[in-house]
Amino acid sequence: MQLLTQRSKPVSRKPMNLLEKIYLPAILKGMTITFSHMFHKKPTIRYPEETREFSPVFRGLHVLNRDEEGRENCTACGLCAVACPAEAITMEAAERKEGEEHLYREEKYAARYEINMLRCIFCGLCEDACPKDAIYLSETVAPASFARKELIYGKKDLLIPNPVTEPEAYAQAKGQKQIK
Ligand code: SF4
Ligand code: SF4
Repeated sequence: MQLLTQRSKPVSRKPMNLLEKIYLPAILKGMTITFSHMFHKKPTIRYPEETREFSPVFRGLHVLNRDEEGRENCTACGLCAVACPAEAITMEAAERKEGEEHLYREEKYAARYEINMLRCIFCGLCEDACPKDAIYLSETVAPASFARKELIYGKKDLLIPNPVTEPEAYAQAKGQKQIK
């Protein structure tokens, strides 16, 4: 039979000699490899007591951004949803009413905005697609859960605290979430 690659090795069928039959050299060879690893630097860490430094390109939990006056940046244009390869984002747009100018920066806003974290692959394309600097992926690790419905994140989970009405929470979130 013609081989497709040259990677296979033919099995040796020759009878074992005495040294091979007592297995001692093979055991010693294995133990040497094991002991040599005792002096190498450990590749593992004692998580959660120890944590690794994140890569500068780490992408974590999404944040819906506000401007410096506390108004929501998102204008519900839907570009993030269109760019999302996992179809994880859904939203409902609404029109800003008179007197709501302090809540929403644009005339249109997202009345409902949801990200299905079970689908999300943290690619960051939603952030790249957004023309309003309204969404970005922070350095906060997305928490795990046993309940599927807890992993559908709505506006209450994603919106950053209001810098005008909740300055302390905003500052804290800013520190944790690396606001741009
Ligand atoms: S990070 Fe990627 S997969 Fe996740 S919501 Fe944004 S575009 Fe979709
Ligand atoms: S997050 Fe950005 S891209 Fe997505 S709907 Fe809002 S403004 Fe548009």
